[in-house]
Amino acid sequence: MVLDVEAGDILPAKEAIEIMDQVDLGPNIDVPPIPKEAFSENIPEDEKEFYRNEIKRLKEERNALVLSHNYVPSDIQELSDVVGDSLFLAQQGADSDADYLIEATVLFMNQMLAALKKPHQTVLAPDLGALCSLAAHADVSKIKKWKEQHTNGVVISYVNTYLEVKAESDFCCASANAGKVTLHVLKNTNPEQPILFLPDVFLGFYAAKLLESEGHSLDRLHLMMGACHVHERIRPHHVMEQQNSYPNAITVVHPECGCTSACMRQVNEGVVPEDLLQFRSTQGMIKLVSEVPQNEVIVATEVGNLHPMSKAVPEKTLIPASKEALCSYMKQNTLKNLYECLRDLKYEINVDAELAKRARIPIERMLEIV
Ligand code: SF4
Repeated sequence: MVLDVEAGDILPAKEAIEIMDQVDLGPNIDVPPIPKEAFSENIPEDEKEFYRNEIKRLKEERNALVLSHNYVPSDIQELSDVVGDSLFLAQQGADSDADYLIEATVLFMNQMLAALKKPHQTVLAPDLGALCSLAAHADVSKIKKWKEQHTNGVVISYVNTYLEVKAESDFCCASANAGKVTLHVLKNTNPEQPILFLPDVFLGFYAAKLLESEGHSLDRLHLMMGACHVHERIRPHHVMEQQNSYPNAITVVHPECGCTSACMRQVNEGVVPEDLLQFRSTQGMIKLVSEVPQNEVIVATEVGNLHPMSKAVPEKTLIPASKEALCSYMKQNTLKNLYECLRDLKYEINVDAELAKRARIPIERMLEIV
């Protein structure tokens, strides 16, 4: 059956959940090749040493703070002052007194940092080709159209969106609090008000299941059919194959994954005990791995997150659910362009002041809830 639904369309939640595994949720923007320098073993030691020394020297000279996401190459994470998820980086950058905030992430994160920074701070990105397939699915014209059709509607947008989308939103959420924010909106708005969750349909599904588990109907909820191509391609068979190979392992799944619904079913149907299959955000995975007794952990997310996880628990065996789960956009950040960014003070990220002001409102509302 050919479905007349494309990535980025907005559907009532029940309908979206029913068809989410049948819709082509692939990227609608180019996915660049991963540069070979994204892998530490491909850079000669003397070159690495040069970049390390120069980056440290320039950081001090410029009064710069280097912030990086858990998915960028490990060499960059090692040289960063702050490593974490998008919201954490934006908060840490804005809280600092650094003059330059060098953020090795992707554009929507650079924009969020630029919207939250202090007036004297300058945000720089090492590579402007670092985009995001999930953020690209959130077409602002579709959101405006939904708002016209649902004049009392409430929009919750995942932080993985551009500023234009945040500016059209009432609340933001992160992967760690998607369920909590959605529940808050459901409880604190008029029962007649429709709610739109965007852009990630798998995270929306995860939030929807939490609402249902608390006895709420999904009638008011609409979901956007968006996805991150990296997480979406982590399918149930990837997880199950690793579970068969490592029967004593705990599995931890990022709820953006294409295996989310199948993994929830495994738990609900008692195929896997709840304490052996957990859902966590990027940061939440690092905390979980330190707390659980299991020595083997199957990790369903972008492979870069295994670097900070293995630093937290060097003695444990971390098994990627899929070794192919690599974000080409994040890997555009390399030691070379980080060095050039600090040396030449490029590329500056500027955002429209009025747009930034509007985008801060849903972020602040989220922070009041969590
Ligand atoms: S991992 Fe997915 S959501 Fe994150 S930046 Fe890459 S494409 Fe976007």
